[in-house]
Amino acid sequence: MSNSEVFHRYHVGDVEVTVVRDGHRTFPLPDHFVVNATKDDVNAALESASLLRDEMTIHFNPLALKIGGKTVVVDTGLGEAGKAMTNGTAGHFTDNLKASGIDPKQVDAVVISHFHFDHIAGLADAQNRSVFPNAEIFVPATEWSFWMDQSERSNAPEGRRDAFDAVWRIFDDMLKRKVTQYNWGDEVLPGLLAAETAGHTPGHTSFMLTSGADRLFIQSDVTNHPALFVRNPTWHAAFDMDAERAERTRRRVYDMLVSEKLKVQAFHYPFPSSGYIEKDGDRYHVLPGPGLKPIW
Ligand SMILES: [Zn+2]
Repeated sequence: MSNSEVFHRYHVGDVEVTVVRDGHRTFPLPDHFVVNATKDDVNAALESASLLRDEMTIHFNPLALKIGGKTVVVDTGLGEAGKAMTNGTAGHFTDNLKASGIDPKQVDAVVISHFHFDHIAGLADAQNRSVFPNAEIFVPATEWSFWMDQSERSNAPEGRRDAFDAVWRIFDDMLKRKVTQYNWGDEVLPGLLAAETAGHTPGHTSFMLTSGADRLFIQSDVTNHPALFVRNPTWHAAFDMDAERAERTRRRVYDMLVSEKLKVQAFHYPFPSSGYIEKDGDRYHVLPGPGLKPIW
């Protein structure tokens, strides 16, 4: 997979899936990036995956789906704001979507999995105008009621207030609350079923995409970097808001992916951010295809 490849396309039944590279963010490994593992253990996991010690790279990979006649985007990356935050290593979803042949103005629907910055910021351009002016914006109802509640913002730790402000800037200032809320169990679009995978955030959602006999599980952030959190499903990422629930969700989802032999499309795996899951004792591996050698 060349590093210059900005999109990757495949089919699930009649649905065309395009994984679109938003970019990545590299930063010094924080002491408590994994809250219940030592930095030495995290470094050992990075090394055994042939990654550099003391450095973390997070990858961002939103999707575009063609379902029937409709063009659907799932999550949006870091947007223009992210270009500045990352010295230009992330925030390229819109440009790369165009490179894949999809005009943002022709997007009919944007489906948001949860309200963390890296999933919603790409809804807005540098002037806080909508990047997808003709799209219906679908959001998880549970996520909406949490983040749009001012008392939750007041109760949040200082470090989390910025996340609330970003949510309000996009959904209140820009979109004037013109969104369509969906519930877990709803078919958000034909063949795209919303699945409860809470823990990472209160309303965190994954999707089962079904077309004919073919299925794909779009996990969103059930795990972040596979070298750490697929290999060590008991590890709690610093940004999991309810870490115990996120761990239970991770186990439930990954056991399901193994038993149903499903392809998983993630948001934070390295591009193209997909694979098949194999059980390895109490842990898991990611394989590029059924029966192939593990990549993570
Ligand atoms: Zn994320």
